[in-house]
Amino acid sequence: MRVAIIGSGASGIAAAYYLKQAGFADFTLFEKSDDLGGTWRDNRYPGVACDVPSHLYRFTFAPNAEWTRRCSPGAEIQAYMRDVAKQIGAFEKIAFNHEVTKVQFADGGWEVETSKGPYGHFDAVISASGALHHPKMPNIDGIESFLGRSCHSAQWDDATDLTGKRVGVIGSGSTGTQITATLADHVQSLTLFQRTAQWIMPLPNYPIAEEKRQEYRDDPAKMDGYYHYLAGRFNEVFGDAVSGHNPEAYEHMAEACEENLRTSVTDPELRAKLTPDYAVGCKRLVLSDSFYEAIQRPNATLETGAISKVEQNGVRMEDGSLHELDYLIYATGFHAHSLCHPMHIAGRDGRVLAEEWADGNYAYRSVAVPGFPNWFMIGGPNSPIGNFSYLMTAEHQAKYVVSLIKEASISGTVEPKPDVTDAYNAELREAMNGTIWVSGCDSWYFDKQGRVASYPWSFSRFAEEMQTPNLADFHIRP
Ligand code: NAP
Repeated sequence: MRVAIIGSGASGIAAAYYLKQAGFADFTLFEKSDDLGGTWRDNRYPGVACDVPSHLYRFTFAPNAEWTRRCSPGAEIQAYMRDVAKQIGAFEKIAFNHEVTKVQFADGGWEVETSKGPYGHFDAVISASGALHHPKMPNIDGIESFLGRSCHSAQWDDATDLTGKRVGVIGSGSTGTQITATLADHVQSLTLFQRTAQWIMPLPNYPIAEEKRQEYRDDPAKMDGYYHYLAGRFNEVFGDAVSGHNPEAYEHMAEACEENLRTSVTDPELRAKLTPDYAVGCKRLVLSDSFYEAIQRPNATLETGAISKVEQNGVRMEDGSLHELDYLIYATGFHAHSLCHPMHIAGRDGRVLAEEWADGNYAYRSVAVPGFPNWFMIGGPNSPIGNFSYLMTAEHQAKYVVSLIKEASISGTVEPKPDVTDAYNAELREAMNGTIWVSGCDSWYFDKQGRVASYPWSFSRFAEEMQTPNLADFHIRP
C-alpha cells in the first residue's frame, strides 16, 4: 500500500507511526509549510502552552521525561513533535512546501496533486490536516485602517517586541487569556476586549524539578503510571463531566470555577464583568492560574463594551470612547469547520467532498465518508474535542484507520455504507440534544447549520468504538 498523509502535525505523526507499526512503510506526509508540528508551529504567541498537562499531552509511543512544566510552553511541544517525527522515521518522509490542492479517486486509488503539480498515485489517503487551523478574523469595520501593528494570534511575528507598548487583545478564549496573562507584565498597557466572559478553571502550572525528571528517566514505568493517572482524571472525570457523563464531577468542576472567580477577583464590578451568563462548560473551559491576576494589574483594562470599529489609532467603542493602541492582537479563533479546506477532494462517481458537506460536515465515526473509498481522516467531523488530550483522540483514530488500510491491502477498497453512516449521525445528533454545549451559549463548537461538532458520548465509549472496525459497516470492493 502506498499511502498519502496530508499534514505533518500531531495527527499526521500519529498516522505515520501506526502505519509503520503495521508494516506499511511506503507513505509520504504532505506538508504545506516548511516545518512540521501543525498547531504548535503556527501558534507562537506570548504565553502559548497546552492546558492539558504535558505528561498526558504526549504520544503513548513517545514518553518524554524532559517536560519542564506541568503544562509546557508551545515551543517545547513543537520541539517534541520534531523529535518524535525523527525518532519514528517520519521526518524524512515529509514533502515540505507541498500543499495538497487536489485529490482525485481514480483506478482504485487516489491521484494527489500539490501546489507544485501532480505528485503521484496512492492506494489510500489519510487527511490529517487539522481543525483549528484557518485563522478567523472578526467582522469589525476598519481593521485595515489601523496604523499600528496587528496580527491574528496564530500568525505571530517572532520579531515582535511589545515592551513598553499599548496593546489591545480582542477575544477572551483560551488564546486571549493566555496572551493577557503573559503580556500584562511586560507592556505599558493592556486592554482586553471581551465580548463574552469565560469560566476559568484554576490549573497551577508549576515547573517540573530536575529531580522529578531524573526520576522519570530512571523509572519510565512510573512516568507511564502518571500518564494513565492523568488520562483517567482528564477523560473519565473532567472530559466526562463536561460531556454530561459524570454529574458529580461536573458539580465539583462548576464549583471550582465559581470559587476561582469569587476568591481571585476582589473588585465586585470587575467580578461582575468576568461572570459568564451561561453554564460552566458550555464554551470550552479555559484553564489558567494567572489570568485573573493579570487582568487586575493596574496597567490592564477589561473592556466589555461593544466595539464600533477599528480606527487609525486604536479601537472605537459604541459609546464613542477610543482605546489608543500601538499593537492589536486578534485572538478571535479559527474557522473550525473548514475541515479539509481548500483541497478539492473528488471521490467515486464524481462526488466532491465540499459538496457532500455543503449542509454540514459528517462522517462515519469521524474517519471516513461514503463515496470516498480508502479516504480516511484523523480529527474529522465530531471527533472528541474540547478539554481532552487531542493526541489520545488522534492515536485512537490512527490505529482504527490503519486497521481499515490493512483490510484494503487485502481486499481493494473500503468505504462506509451510507445507511450506517446516516444512522450513526442521527444517533449522534440525538445525543447532542442533552449536552451542556447546547445549553445556551455560542461557541466555535457550532457549525454554520447550528449543530455542535463535538463528540456527545464519553471518552471511554469513543475508545471502545475505535477498538476494531466493524467491517459489516463497510463496502469492501476489489
Ligand atoms: P475561541 O475560543 O474561538 O475564542 C475567540 C474569542 O474571540 C472569543 O472570546 C470571541 O468572543 C472573540 N471574538 C470573536 N469575534 C469577535 C468580534 N467580532 N468581536 C469581539 N470578540 C470577538 O478561540 P481561541 O481562544 O483561539 O481558542 C480556540 C480553541 O483553540 C480553544 O477552545 C482550544 O480548543 C484551542 N486552544 C487550546 C489552547 C490550549 O492551551 N490547549 C490554547 C489556545 C487555544 P465570543 O466568546 O463572544 O464569541
